[in-house]
Amino acid sequence: QHTDLAAIVESGTVDVPDFPKPGVVFKDLMPLFADGPAFRQVIDGIIAHHGEGSFDVVAGVEARGFVVAAAIAYATGTGVVPVRKAGKLPRKALSASYELEYGEAALEVHEDAFIAGQRVLVVDDVLATGGTAAAALELVERAGGTVAGFTVLMELAFLKGRERLSPRTVHALLTV
Ligand code: AMP
Repeated sequence: QHTDLAAIVESGTVDVPDFPKPGVVFKDLMPLFADGPAFRQVIDGIIAHHGEGSFDVVAGVEARGFVVAAAIAYATGTGVVPVRKAGKLPRKALSASYELEYGEAALEVHEDAFIAGQRVLVVDDVLATGGTAAAALELVERAGGTVAGFTVLMELAFLKGRERLSPRTVHALLTV
């Protein structure tokens, strides 16, 4: 990991013990999002890692992934596709269920969200068990997109999300 970016993510994160349930340490990245220079460096770092021009659209996972996706899309002149929690999208959607570190849920994407073969950079804030990411990546492909990359700001290595997603590549700015 790029040490400067890892340090920026680390210093912009607050650990919240026992949220949203006992035993879970929630990684709150809101302070990073709220810090203009830090946020810009992180967004620019993600774009530099993948290479501008290597993706056509950015898919963000609800809800904190939206923040990251929108910033990357704006900076690169690409677009954003939301990968949403079940029941939120207004039109016909594809669905994939998954398990969370703290519960179970489903993600959805509009069935016409991507042009066939469109290269999609998928982003989220935290990679934990990898269930969310697996569902999001599956949805992108079922909807006709090609996964161009997957990036998270922080990876919780002890939950082995990276192994679960193998052979796909995970880019994490900070691994803890
Ligand atoms: P998982 O599916 O287990 O990889 O969980 C990843 C998703 O849940 C991401 O969308 C994260 O925002 C959220 N998440 C899971 N665990 C945490 C955590 N400890 N701190 C912050 N967000 C988390």
